[in-house]
Amino acid sequence: MTGRLPPLEIMRHLVAFPTVSRDTNLPLIDWVEAYLASHGITAHRHLHPDQPKAALFAHVGPWEEGAIVLSGHTDVVPVDGQPWDSDPFEVTERNGKYYGRGTCDMKGFDALAIWALVEAKYSGLSRPLQIALSFDEEIGCTGAPPMIAAMQPVLPKGAAVIVGEPSMMQAVSGHKGGTGFDTHVRGFEVHSSLLDRGVNAIMYGAKLIDWANEVNAANRSAPPGPLAAAFDPPYTTAHVGVIEGGTAHNITAKDCRFAMDFRVVPGEEKAEWEARYREKVAQVQALMQAVVPETRIEISERFDVPALAPEVEGAAEALVRSLTGDNAVHVVSYATEAGQFQEAGYSAVICGPGDIAQAHQPNEYISKAQFEAGHGFMQRLVARLCA
Ligand SMILES: [Zn+2]
Repeated sequence: MTGRLPPLEIMRHLVAFPTVSRDTNLPLIDWVEAYLASHGITAHRHLHPDQPKAALFAHVGPWEEGAIVLSGHTDVVPVDGQPWDSDPFEVTERNGKYYGRGTCDMKGFDALAIWALVEAKYSGLSRPLQIALSFDEEIGCTGAPPMIAAMQPVLPKGAAVIVGEPSMMQAVSGHKGGTGFDTHVRGFEVHSSLLDRGVNAIMYGAKLIDWANEVNAANRSAPPGPLAAAFDPPYTTAHVGVIEGGTAHNITAKDCRFAMDFRVVPGEEKAEWEARYREKVAQVQALMQAVVPETRIEISERFDVPALAPEVEGAAEALVRSLTGDNAVHVVSYATEAGQFQEAGYSAVICGPGDIAQAHQPNEYISKAQFEAGHGFMQRLVARLCA
């Protein structure tokens, strides 16, 4: 490995690894580990139990508790079917923007974090700095909890976590939680002319989907709770983003599968929404079984991500505010790993370069201005940890 790379060069390396969540991230992890090792930094891996993926974490500075932790995910969403104007796995610069899958979400931040760790190594820190790079964030934030658990016996416990999801370098102190359920309606197939003897899985599934519409309408018209009022929208939402079912227009569908997801505001319990959904499922299943007893509805949890609740005088938020000068209150409606760090006892805040509107898009980009703002932030952070 050759010398100390500027953040842009590190980002070019990271983007060149096509670490779509369904595929391995090990070549990227190998590269980061070797790069850190070339600067005398020992990184630690946490392996996925049965897929070729790893998380990576490392510590620089005094071997003591109280580190600032820079947290990012290494996986990216697919580019399948998206119209890209350039190779998504190569950083391409045009019009003041760096294009490439993950430049915004969130290899741009990962590159800045790696840069900061190496910079910190040479700067004589008086307070430690850590990085934590996870996998499987984009498929329901399932990689961070085992990584956080694996960090505990290996590194001194960090105090404040900065999760670098794109926030335009603003301090975001709250987000909704989320939980999602794969739902499989198992009906009974007959010729559609004999409809009343069959159980059409699609049409019964539609009752559950329309229940989501009712939930949203009711939540929209209710006054928001105190922790929810800052969110847009300021209430819990239910959503179905994927559905499949049926085999022919003239056969009552035997199967219908869909994904029912909830985005839950802080102050409400995810378990409560799960219980309400299960109650509705039981009602619809009873209607189905009154026609054909062996029909049923199966649901299984696909993800469960805690909310990030705004902290009272939170250490992470205070640090980010002092480094950015941003004193406004920001919350977002997308879930991140910040809630998982908070659940594990860390103070946590979101602050990263780029606009979330660019995430997951074809021609995803991060503006040079945002990337440079992120670089300035890291320079101030390292200076602060030396003071
Ligand atoms: Zn992300």
